[in-house]
Amino acid sequence: MMSLDKTARAFLLAELVSGMAQTFRQMFRPKATLNYPYEKAPQSPRFKGEHALRRYPNGEERCIACKLCEAVCPAQAITIEAEPREDGSRRTTRYDIDMTKCIYCGLCEEACPVDAIVEGPNFEFATETREELMYDKDRLLANGDRWEPEIAKRLELDAPYR
Ligand code: SF4
Ligand code: SF4
Repeated sequence: MMSLDKTARAFLLAELVSGMAQTFRQMFRPKATLNYPYEKAPQSPRFKGEHALRRYPNGEERCIACKLCEAVCPAQAITIEAEPREDGSRRTTRYDIDMTKCIYCGLCEEACPVDAIVEGPNFEFATETREELMYDKDRLLANGDRWEPEIAKRLELDAPYR
């Protein structure tokens, strides 16, 4: 009886018809995929992407060279050197992040008392060489300048939970 049933199903192309019906049903359902890179998924305000160093609206660097981020980094990816300026303020002379060591834990951002170092929304920073992932201060400040509106918005949305 079982083999008769199987034969009948084979002759009637039951599997094929069922497969096509499933395809037809899926055509009218919302798409589960995105046409990346033209479409991107919504991002959480807590997304931890590429690092950036921020400035105040007057252009002054936020970082006060306290080195808390360097001390807290579990991957020892951050290297800071600092010295006082002529006006007595303390600023970094070197701020490097070895992005090949970074584990994107966000502890540097949590430790920073002035919201200077942050992990921004950018996740499209793949490179072809390791050297390109050795970020220096200029690169980090440039990231901050580029992403400041998005970073400020993200920090504002997350503020009630910090
Ligand atoms: S995200 Fe974590 S691992 Fe990466 S630099 Fe910051 S503290 Fe270090
Ligand atoms: S980025 Fe923040 S935590 Fe790191 S040295 Fe500058 S002020 Fe301190």
